[in-house]
Amino acid sequence: MGKLRKRKNARRRKSTSIYFMLWTTFLLFALAIVLLFSFSQNRVVRQTYKETIARELAKSGKEIQSELVLFEQAGGRDYGGFLISRTQKYDVRAFILKADGTLLFPNLDDLTPALSKDVDFAEKIVRLKESLRKADAETGTAVLYEDRSGEYVYGARLPSFGEEGEETYLYISRSLKISESILSGVRSRTVLLAVFVMILSFAVAGSISGMLVKPIAEMTEKAGALARGDFSVDFRGTDYGSEVTALADTLNYARDELSKTDRMQKELIANVSHDFKTPLTMIKAYASMIKEISGGNPEKREKHAQVIIDEADRLASLVNDVLDLSKISSGLDVLKLEDYDLSAYTLEVLEKFGYLADTQGYHFQTDIESELFTRADPAKIGQVLYNLIGNAVNYTGEDKTVRVALKKEGEKILFSVSDSGKGIKKEELASIWERYYRSADAHKRPVKGTGLGLSIVKTILERHRFRFGVESEVGEGSTFYVLFPLVGN
Ligand code: ADP
Repeated sequence: MGKLRKRKNARRRKSTSIYFMLWTTFLLFALAIVLLFSFSQNRVVRQTYKETIARELAKSGKEIQSELVLFEQAGGRDYGGFLISRTQKYDVRAFILKADGTLLFPNLDDLTPALSKDVDFAEKIVRLKESLRKADAETGTAVLYEDRSGEYVYGARLPSFGEEGEETYLYISRSLKISESILSGVRSRTVLLAVFVMILSFAVAGSISGMLVKPIAEMTEKAGALARGDFSVDFRGTDYGSEVTALADTLNYARDELSKTDRMQKELIANVSHDFKTPLTMIKAYASMIKEISGGNPEKREKHAQVIIDEADRLASLVNDVLDLSKISSGLDVLKLEDYDLSAYTLEVLEKFGYLADTQGYHFQTDIESELFTRADPAKIGQVLYNLIGNAVNYTGEDKTVRVALKKEGEKILFSVSDSGKGIKKEELASIWERYYRSADAHKRPVKGTGLGLSIVKTILERHRFRFGVESEVGEGSTFYVLFPLVGN
């Protein structure tokens, strides 16, 4: 027991709170979105940057090219100076190259270290020529392409440079490397966004879990009170969670059932102690009578001793009933199933009521088909039949008639017992099977009753999985029936 409780507690401690669960889920979800967003934003920034560079390079390249023509026409000869000045003006690198990749202008000596760095003109001219060929560009027409080294290149063939017949090219490039400051701007905005999202998920998770947890915590507290025996608790749901409302409804139902059982149990104790008290009082009274009065008179003594025996029997059967029920409903005793003749068995049970026919004028009308075999626990089914017939005797009307029938019905055997009593009200039909339920006038009946009879019947038949029920008409009587399986004999 202690171990079990410990294990349960351990399990409870391990489970996380709804708040934490919601919070982590929200946070992970939000962070995933932020990451996705920042990733796509990075791409967008890079793409836009590239496009801008391409556009600008196309423009400045064209300008440099036409300025070069003008410069040449005006008789300018310092091409190197011209190109270097354009380099600064347009933030590009501008060269005039020969077909074999030799640098024509500006002079290698004039190049700033930044400009000359990593420039492999031989390779670049190959790419440029290839692009021009692909574009089928005529002399003077320009091409724009992305170089493998991460640069955008504006290039054109120049007609009027160098020695006669020698091909020359204008090569202008601009690095595509995105400036760090732009990227770090984007990054810091992402970090800010992530922090904001974290705070937001705290708040949202907090408010949602508050909405969820509050009613559950309330219910836990009330369920605790219910467990301590307070049946006045009322479980309430919320407006925003049908599941929580369903839980509250279920708990309310459990409370009703518990309080009903509790009430019935109290009533049973009152009833049973009353039933115990009556025979005990009688036993005591008659024993005193024998001791003081009838001891010497054998005839009277005999009569009084018989009363004592009868009352002791009643007491014993009452105790048996209570024990039976607790045994059956605890599920401890197993059913001992066997195939047997239910017809013969029913007649045997009926014989026990024979004395009522002989001494108190009861009529038993029987209609029992012979040799109907069933598979069940004979002792338990005996109890069922005894209780049902006993009830019919107890509750039958003035004519003191009880009808018992056992008939084959397809694959089943239908047992029924009818009385002509005042019947059972519709609203009581469901309750009569409940444990401890007793009608008010339970006390002056020929067959002993404890309010447990039908509950024993129900438990036994349910364990057998047999169908059973009652049909009753107020003022006309009731018929209790059971359907047994029919087995070949
Ligand atoms: P008991 O008969 O000892 O009171 P039962 O469990 O056998 O307990 O029956 C429960 C209640 O069902 C009875 O108190 C009675 O109100 C009702 N009942 C049972 N059988 C009949 C019947 N044949 N006719 C009318 N009422 C019945």
